[in-house]
Amino acid sequence: MIVVKNLNKFYNNNKILNNISFKINDGKICAILGKSGSGKSTLLSCINGLEKFQSGEIYIDNQLINTLDEKALRIARKNIGMIFQNYILISRKNVYDNIALPMQCWGYDKNIIDLKVKSLAKLVGLFDKLYVKPNELSGGQKQRVAIARALSLEPKYLLCDECTSALDEGTTESILKLLKELNEKLNITIIIVTHEMNVVRAICDEIYYIKNGEISNLFSASEFFLNDDFRLNKSGLEFSLYIKNYEKYTQIFYDLSKILNNPYEIISTNYHHFNNTSTMQINISINEIDKNTFLDLLKSLDITYKQKDDSVW
Ligand code: ADP
Ligand code: MG
Repeated sequence: MIVVKNLNKFYNNNKILNNISFKINDGKICAILGKSGSGKSTLLSCINGLEKFQSGEIYIDNQLINTLDEKALRIARKNIGMIFQNYILISRKNVYDNIALPMQCWGYDKNIIDLKVKSLAKLVGLFDKLYVKPNELSGGQKQRVAIARALSLEPKYLLCDECTSALDEGTTESILKLLKELNEKLNITIIIVTHEMNVVRAICDEIYYIKNGEISNLFSASEFFLNDDFRLNKSGLEFSLYIKNYEKYTQIFYDLSKILNNPYEIISTNYHHFNNTSTMQINISINEIDKNTFLDLLKSLDITYKQKDDSVW
């Protein structure tokens, strides 16, 4: 279990994380959402001991990591695998050696490394690519190498920092599917930092959201989305917006991303053609807490809307 208590982190005089407390239970897939610059990567770096922080406590399996000396920290970090948006593979080494690297650094026996590299390559679906160099791989394949490398020391936790943000939709889906499989097969606890809602929707059990340096536990994912179609749950309010021009369309989503406290979900879009004009209907779900802000925005942009009412929807 990872427990973060009253964490405060500054860069110079800028407070990046403000008294953050939360915990992540074993075996879960947890999302940390937030806009760019909100402190997500900083939080992960504090958890894996790469960044020091000014006050607070981080416990990993009841071990307080911020007081560990370098050697103890190195051992603690063995238990935490990391993957990143840009894979950080070594371009001159082949897939085999990239996966083997952490084990080589720890001085593992050659035969053990060989077995482990091959079994990991199988696990991530890259057995036939063991002897090629990273530049011969697609983005998704590179991320698979990075995942295998992150798993090589058999960590209990896998921290993923925007690990699908550079991938197209289909590849993202396949990487998320792999993460879910790893979570189930290896019982590894996964923390995914992302700004992409579809990632959360696909595989996460728990959702945290960072804004203005503070973290909130939104809902458990099963509460957040309806199970069958991943819509926002009862605490989400659904609206239809009727928009006549594209400028308004871009304007509203630009504004929404700035002013809403919580993620929103675009459920579907339709076009209606009538008398030579076409109107775009956007069905959107927002968090109840954001209702007034949302309605004010619609008014200021002069957008026609209808709140979902089961009798007419
Ligand atoms: P996110 O991952 O959510 O995009 P980051 O954790 O990378 O956000 O950054 C949070 C804030 O901290 C940003 O304003 C960023 O500019 C600042 N920051 C990140 N790393 C450093 C650093 N090493 N020195 C100074 N400021 C930093
Ligand atoms: Mg980041």
